[in-house]
Amino acid sequence: LHLVIARIAGAPAGTRGISLFLVPKFLINDDGSLAERNGVETTAIEHKMGIRASATCSLNFVDATGYLIGEENRGLAAMFKMMNIERMTVGLQGLGMADIAYQNALNYAVERRQSKSPAPRPDDTKAADPIIFQPEMQRQLLTIRSQVEGARALSVYTGLQVDIMERSADAAEVAAAEATVALLTPVIKAHFSDLGMSSTLSAQQIYGGHGYIREHGMEQLVRDCRIAPIYEGTNEVQAIDLVARKVSGRQSEFANQFLAGWQTFLEDHRAEDTVSDIVTPAAAALQQLVDTTHWIQQSDDATQRGAANQYLRQFGLTIIACLWAQIIVSIRDKGGAFYDTKRKLARFYMQRVLPETASIAVTVVGGADALADIGVGELTG
Ligand SMILES: Cc1cc2nc3c(=O)[nH]c(=O)nc-3n(C[C@H](O)[C@H](O)[C@H](O)COP(=O)(O)OP(=O)(O)OC[C@H]3O[C@@H](n4cnc5c(N)ncnc54)[C@H](O)[C@@H]3O)c2cc1C
Repeated sequence: LHLVIARIAGAPAGTRGISLFLVPKFLINDDGSLAERNGVETTAIEHKMGIRASATCSLNFVDATGYLIGEENRGLAAMFKMMNIERMTVGLQGLGMADIAYQNALNYAVERRQSKSPAPRPDDTKAADPIIFQPEMQRQLLTIRSQVEGARALSVYTGLQVDIMERSADAAEVAAAEATVALLTPVIKAHFSDLGMSSTLSAQQIYGGHGYIREHGMEQLVRDCRIAPIYEGTNEVQAIDLVARKVSGRQSEFANQFLAGWQTFLEDHRAEDTVSDIVTPAAAALQQLVDTTHWIQQSDDATQRGAANQYLRQFGLTIIACLWAQIIVSIRDKGGAFYDTKRKLARFYMQRVLPETASIAVTVVGGADALADIGVGELTG
């Protein structure tokens, strides 16, 4: 069965003239038995960079019969119901691949001996130490892990909103959950798939030359992950959805409320000694995001689009910092190695990952003039 978007003859131009159809491989007789093949055939298997086990192909439709799903010319809206779930799952695909890459790279870094580590060395009698004792290897591993754990918290937070949206009997609660999910969907799709890409590359780097060789599987992770920022709406398209539809226009009031809710939470805990080293940098980054968001809301279309991808990154990094703060607040009375590691990971995130948002904020409010300055004619001339 193929779900196909197509135009009905005489339909309006553009996206308002698109309808959704179900096109079966076989036609069906009135008694429910299978009739002759429908006019749809596979013309080629796609030869892809990655996800080779997924046999995507080119289909040709010749005099095919399709059955309208939903209303005429409302096909894009119908498809978006499906697309929104897909955007979430592609984001989770990126997150999952980041974690697999981390686990492999961690094991490799523990086993691989190369060079001496800075003092104090783990074992002075050995000619070389495991590369996990190299601070740069630790930085790359912790950069992945601190982002993966924070992103996982964001996905659980969003999953809870999906449950409320689908199950709550309280209409106001449902509306707020729907708006939250709508706001976070492009962030999860783009930020997590980018995280998958940066993490698989980093993990491959930790393998050195062995990462480039097939038998270790790391090059496959890089290849397989590469599709995630591209399909189900490219990450550029997700970023435009965020700036133009989710934080501006009709949704801007909700976006401001969402950020204000996190500001209140961080303010409530900022003065607590046991968590202030995590909450304070998160609150500072959030204030910057609020400022950038107001700037985006007041900008024209071209300026918003010129800032979109970087703004989405600032949004993703900052909201993950808020989630980390929430984790740390929720475990503030817990002792033991497991919780101590969480606190250290959160601190690493605040010190070594989150500061990127400060430079993004400067870039975003710098405007799009530098982009428009060099005209298309100048580039192509
Ligand atoms: C393996 C694979 C499986 C796929 N499976 C499916 C499927 O099952 N169903 C389906 O419908 N599609 C599927 N696709 C198609 C996929 O969703 C599209 O390739 C993807 O959405 C990008 O569209 P495009 O290729 O037309 O690129 P284009 O839209 O031509 O984009 C090219 C570049 O321009 C940028 N760009 C385009 N418009 C803008 C804009 N407004 N602002 C900023 N930048 C912009 C893009 O971000 C991109 O970088 C699949 C693709 C692949 C590779």
